[in-house]
This record gives sequence, structure tokens and C-alpha cells, in this order.
Amino acid sequence: MTSEPTTLVVLGASGDLTERLLLPGLGSLLAESAGGPRQLIGTGRSERSADEWRQTVSDAFEEAEARGEDATAIVDSAQYIQADPTEVDDLVRILEACEHTPILYFALPPTITITVCEALEKVDLPEGTVLAMEKPFGSDSESAAALNRQLQKLVPEERVHRIDHFLGTSTVLNLIGLRFANRLFEPVWNAENIERVEIVYDEDLALEGRAAYYDSAGALVDMIQSHLLQVLALFAMEAPASLDEQDLRSVLAQVLRATEVAGGDPVASSRRARYTAASVDGEDVPSYADEEGVDASQNTETLAEVTFAVNNRRWEGVPFVLRSGKALSENRKNIVVTFKPVRGLPRGLSGHARPDRLVIDLKQNGVSLDLTMNGGDDPFALEQVPLQATLREERLTAYGEVLRGIFDNDPTISVRADVAERCWRIVEPVLAAWRDDRVALDEYPAGSSGPASWQED
Ligand code: NDP
Repeated sequence: MTSEPTTLVVLGASGDLTERLLLPGLGSLLAESAGGPRQLIGTGRSERSADEWRQTVSDAFEEAEARGEDATAIVDSAQYIQADPTEVDDLVRILEACEHTPILYFALPPTITITVCEALEKVDLPEGTVLAMEKPFGSDSESAAALNRQLQKLVPEERVHRIDHFLGTSTVLNLIGLRFANRLFEPVWNAENIERVEIVYDEDLALEGRAAYYDSAGALVDMIQSHLLQVLALFAMEAPASLDEQDLRSVLAQVLRATEVAGGDPVASSRRARYTAASVDGEDVPSYADEEGVDASQNTETLAEVTFAVNNRRWEGVPFVLRSGKALSENRKNIVVTFKPVRGLPRGLSGHARPDRLVIDLKQNGVSLDLTMNGGDDPFALEQVPLQATLREERLTAYGEVLRGIFDNDPTISVRADVAERCWRIVEPVLAAWRDDRVALDEYPAGSSGPASWQED
């Protein structure tokens, strides 16, 4: 992979993503001397002095302990250009300020992204320009396809990075080693042996002031349509011949082409809910409907659960339950694999042979295998015992990892054009059923584990 000197241009540099995730990610990359740009330009319509921008960059780098020469040089030369990225003249001005091959990072609201891409068509893009697109990529399969067509007019596909930072977390990438680099798991990674797979991303945080984005997205689009389907794909894919971008992204695309809402029935296979007012850890949390900036009539869900089927030889009949929500009692972020009961358990063993479970923690970087074995007190009584492994702390943040792919010109962990469209197609039957109110919008008190009616499962 080539790594020519680059200028990273952050479009939307005054936003939440830039400050909270992107700059710290860049800092982690520099702290590890794992690559980076030669020049950093922030742009936005809002006014901001060069000093203020340098301070923002410097604070993020300091937090990430990026203190080497490269980091210092980037901070010292960081520029802020006040500009509207939807205006052709402003884009020209930004590109003229680039001393190296530009990487345009779209840290912009998704609705603005297509307008900026249309404006870019009227600009002479320097040779080698790279475009990094944030999720959500479009708002349905049609708009994602339109955005893909527009991007094709601008740069070749290998210079487009559709970011899904979940693919940059080492916990998620560890799935590849867990499955394919030992003798134990791959032989049982199929419908013969696995009863059910749950991929859960529950947060205890409520809306946190993000109504402008979240109220038009909801839990299904924010998490399941993008991040969790990517995790499903890595979990369920066939073995790639190599981890290069062609091999890995082809097997991911292949398994997603086999993925559909279970039974083709979005009503029976999905549930949605939103939180109501409650006191959580002594703090009052308002009802989602009363949060500032929320239009309650949109019926946006803050908890979504959809069961998918992967209709291929390996997975026929195994439910894949994907769930994500906000303002829940627990920060539970994991994959739970429940294995089928053993056949022909010897008579004479007492106790209950609970199903074996593999729990892959998506936050703490750990794996736990709950196995039924002989008990400690009575050797003929069964007990379930966890075998646990904690993996090493990640060196790079997830954004550090995706930025490394961009600077190395390696799109392996970015989402391919067809997959971005496919993920919309997979969830569209559910979105339609919810839009038509064919699935009830349940409620749960903030800080609880979800609607009471969901608890019996
Ligand atoms: P923001 O809503 O904070 O917007 C980012 C910046 O975009 C704003 O600061 C604003 O800068 C600029 N902007 C807003 N409206 C317009 C407009 N009409 N025309 C031109 N520029 C505009 O977004 P986030 O930073 O939260 O997110 C950016 C992207 O990253 C989104 O696609 C989001 O989905 C994605 N993302 C965000 C995450 C997060 O935690 N924030 C997590 C994962 C992905 P100015 O007013 O200065 O022009």
C-alpha cells in the first residue's frame, strides 16, 4: 500500500465527531507512530481562530499522549479555514490550501454529504484525492446508490473510505482470529452446533443532546443498519483466503447477501420501544418524547431489536438477534453465542446441563466461554463454569484504526459500495413496517432493562 504525504481536511471541524472521536483517534495513531498526515486543515462555516483550532487539536493529542515531533509539527501548522463545504468557491479555496494529496473527511451531517459531493464535481480534484465518508451512508438503499454513483464520478472506488468505526475496534477484528486461527471454534461455527446468536449494544446513556441527528435516525438506523450488521457479517462470513481488501470484503458482502429479516416477516421479527421519564442513579431523565429537539410525533425508537436469518448452508435456521438501545440499566455490549444441547448425556449426572455459551465482549476486549462441567462439591453434579480471557488493551482507538487504513490507502476495513446499499436493503422491510405502525412502539422507564413485556424471553 502506498503512503504518500497527505493533507487531512476535516469538513465539519466544529462538530461533535471531530472533537470527541476523530482528533483523539488521530492522536492515538501519532502516539503509536503508526502513520498520519503531513498537514491538517479544519474547515466549517462557523468562525474560529487558527489558535482556537490548534488548541482543540493540541488538547486531543495531549489526551492521547501524542507528543512526538510529528504530532508537534501537525499542531503547529494546523490551519482552520472558515468555509461552507456546499459552495464550489469555498471548496476550491480549501483545496488550494492543501500542500499534499488531500484526504477529505466528511465529518458532516449525512444530509449535507450528497450536496458537497455534487459541488465537488465542479471542482478539479487533485490526483490521488481520497474521500472518507461517515455513516449513515445515505438514508435508504436508493439514496445510498445515488451517493455511490456520485462518488464514482469523483474518485475511483479504492479511494473512497466508507467509515464504520466498529470495524476498527480490535474486539471486532479479534473475531477473525477467534474463529479461524484455532482448532476449536470453526468446526462448531454452524447451524449444527449453534442455537442462537445475539449481538447486543445497549447503552446506559440517554440522548445526550444529540436530538438533531438521533431523532431522524433512531436505534435501528443508528446502530443495527450499520455497525451491528457489520459485526454479524464478520461473525458469520466464510473463511477469506486472505485479509486483503478484496478477499475480506468479498466474503462480508457474500454473507450479507444471504441475510434477511427472519421469516421474511418484519412484524413478527422486530420490536421497538422508547424510554419514558425516570430517575436514574438519582438523576432525573426526561421521557425521550420530552427531550429538547425531539419531535414526538415521529415515533423514533430508542430501543430496537430485529431477528435476522442468514439463509445459507452454514446458518439456515439460526436466529441472529440484533439489539441496541439507549437509557438502559446496563452497558451491555457483547455477542452471545448459545450452543445446542449435547446429545446423549450419560445417565447418572445430576443437575441441569445449561447450554454452553460463548460471550464476546465488544467493549472490555474479553471472551468468556461458559461450559457445563462436573461440579466442585459433587463430582456427579453438573455446573456451569466460565473460562475467561481478557485480551490486551487496544493500542489504537477505533478511529485511529480506521484513519490508519485511510493514510495507508488500504480500504480493507472500510465498507464497500455494494455492502453500504445492501445493509439498507436488509432493514428496509422493518423500516417500512415501523413507518406504517404495523409494529407497536412499546415503552420502558429510563434506566430499566427494557419494556416489561419483553422480559419473559
Ligand atoms: P454535527 O451535527 O456536530 O455536525 C458537524 C458539523 O457540520 C457542524 O459542526 C457544522 O459545522 C457542519 N454543518 C452542519 N450543518 C451544515 C450545513 N447545513 N452545511 C454545511 N455544514 C454544516 O455532526 P457530528 O459531528 O455529530 O457527526 C458528523 C458525522 O459523523 C455524521 O455523519 C454522523 O452521523 C457521524 N458520526 C458521528 C458520531 C458522533 O458521536 N458524533 C459517531 C459516529 C458517526 P459549521 O456550522 O461550522 O459549518
